[in-house]
Amino acid sequence: MDLGEFAARARQSKAIVFFTGAGISTESGVPDFRSPGGVWTKYQPVLFQDFLASESARIQHWRLKKATYELFKTVKPNVGHYAICNFEARGQLLGLITQNIDGLHKLAGTSEKRLIELHGSDRLVTCLKCAKRYEPIDVYETLGEEFTPPTCDDCGGFLKSANVSFGQSMPVVAMQRAQAWSEQADLFIVVGSSLQVQPAASFPVIAKRSGALLAIINRDPTPLDNMADFVHNGAIGEFFRQLSALLGDS
Ligand SMILES: [Zn+2]
Repeated sequence: MDLGEFAARARQSKAIVFFTGAGISTESGVPDFRSPGGVWTKYQPVLFQDFLASESARIQHWRLKKATYELFKTVKPNVGHYAICNFEARGQLLGLITQNIDGLHKLAGTSEKRLIELHGSDRLVTCLKCAKRYEPIDVYETLGEEFTPPTCDDCGGFLKSANVSFGQSMPVVAMQRAQAWSEQADLFIVVGSSLQVQPAASFPVIAKRSGALLAIINRDPTPLDNMADFVHNGAIGEFFRQLSALLGDS
């Protein structure tokens, strides 16, 4: 189907589920951390078991996350993030599942009850022992050039940015909710995910098998394009500007 037909179907949908990946944040200036010059080439991500076992690994974690924190202070949501908010405002959004840890959906205004951050968020710090939540500013601004890894002022447990690290298990409840939304969706829209890793690739398949219309909006082709009812390969921001014009969004 073409964009006009897709927009017509989107207008009629009552239970839309969005699934977003790094591509939706590119136009906000969030770089691919794996790309040359990205933070990951300067600071290797720390495996969760190493974080638990070694103070030097915890220091490495905080150096990487401090660099990310400095970057995230400057990035803002873009037209793609706001377009999803418009679907929620019209009462059409069942849920938004994101792989991103940049927190931009929340900043754009997607409500917490409609949002699943599958890989957690870098815009929060939590205690691994008692789960107490800390604002990033209260943790990162205390980290100078040399520091000891921060601990919880209530229980002494290790603090950690609230992203799901390599080697750390995915949150069970979030996974179950994401699966339920995928089963209930009447329209499932992938935005900016290459759908090459599990469990990311499983949700569109579940949605399609459960009867949803499947749309994939991504710069490059994905392995699930042949299963989709609508595919758009190109710039994501421009796509949402065109879609919003067809839907009459302000
Ligand atoms: Zn604690």
